[in-house]
Amino acid sequence: MGGLASTRLRAADELPLLAVDDPVAKAVKYVEDAKKVKEAEGNTCANCSLYNGKDGSVQGPCQIIKGKAVKAAGWCNAWAPQM
Ligand code: SF4
Repeated sequence: MGGLASTRLRAADELPLLAVDDPVAKAVKYVEDAKKVKEAEGNTCANCSLYNGKDGSVQGPCQIIKGKAVKAAGWCNAWAPQM
């Protein structure tokens, strides 16, 4: 029996990927490959405090992007350091 909590987790893993041409993505200058953006300075979604993907995940939820997943290798200008 999975229960509600595991159903929610599964749902988060299966969020549709945020499209780079989505207005929400454009508003924060989101890119799928942080290496292509000098501004990222080596930071990625994977080491952003707003990223909720699992360790080692390729993509996962972001606290400021509702209902969509972002790439772990991605980046946007709302990037925030982990405390
Ligand atoms: Fe990635 Fe962080 Fe921007 Fe979300 S806030 S898209 S996790 S860099």
